[in-house]
Amino acid sequence: MDANENAFGSTIPKIAGVDLSRYPDPLAEKLRVEFGKFAGVSAKKVIVGNGSDEIIWLILLAFVEADEEVLTFTPTFSMYRVFANLLGLRVREASFETNFMLDTEKFISKISAKTKLIFLCSPNNPTGQVLPLADIEKILRSKKIVVVDEAYIEFAPEKSSVRLLAKYPNLIVLRTFSKAWGLAGLRIGCALADLAAIAILQKVRAPYSVDSLSQKFALDALKNSAKMMATVKKILAEKEKLTAKLWSLGFTVFPSDTNFVLVKFPPEISAAAIQKKLLQNFGIVVRDFSNKKLLANCVRITVGTSAENSKLLAALTKILK
Ligand code: PMP
Repeated sequence: MDANENAFGSTIPKIAGVDLSRYPDPLAEKLRVEFGKFAGVSAKKVIVGNGSDEIIWLILLAFVEADEEVLTFTPTFSMYRVFANLLGLRVREASFETNFMLDTEKFISKISAKTKLIFLCSPNNPTGQVLPLADIEKILRSKKIVVVDEAYIEFAPEKSSVRLLAKYPNLIVLRTFSKAWGLAGLRIGCALADLAAIAILQKVRAPYSVDSLSQKFALDALKNSAKMMATVKKILAEKEKLTAKLWSLGFTVFPSDTNFVLVKFPPEISAAAIQKKLLQNFGIVVRDFSNKKLLANCVRITVGTSAENSKLLAALTKILK
């Protein structure tokens, strides 16, 4: 008789044993414990959010004041800038060198007294490359809040920066169930961080942003991490095949430690036109990045099933004729 729920029960039956007439556990305790075990940190260092998108928003909301700056590199995941701009925050972007390598020293030289928080996406979306842990550590030594977004880490050979948490209280690691776990529809993301940072994030989070079913199904998924890892292997094998075929069509495919590839077309082929034709003539959607800095004539292609990749390659071959 506490939370003004409906004591007469839900209008629909229980789903997977979950009574939807009751509010979800606001802290997602079970999920914190189990994800903590999976990631190798204590439950107290885990916060669960409505996708890592929500946690990115909360981090900006909680830690950055109006006169402070956010630093990231470009091109990277767009939501850092989108959310920061919504909050009226200034974002500085450091450019990659050729082949999307980060010049770490140059990046560190962009950190100023105004810099409050740094976003590092590793592996990076949309370029696909991982930032070595040694470089992340150099950036952490700046003592600024460093958010390492590891949405695609399960696909990468590099280890998670979670191992740096014990040494750097200024580190926040983001993980998601949307990629390797194949659960984008659940909207579950986690941040792993120092106790003080987690406590602040819990304060700004809406108490019931992670619903009961999502908590339940994410827990079910964690019981079967072997399946996730087997799927990752399959995706990586498909990525190798797709990459080789795309090269053989005359395109440049950047090395990727993720479940997507960034493809650059030769100057005589327009990425925007290819994107349009794939959509209109074949119903295949790829992401056109050609108007983005350093991504001229590039599209990003998510690795599909073997059948989907074959369809894409057949479509590209037809378009090129
Ligand atoms: N970070 C990166 C790098 C992403 O690519 C994405 C999704 N495209 C997200 C975060 C957001 O993921 P979620 O589904 O957990 O909100």
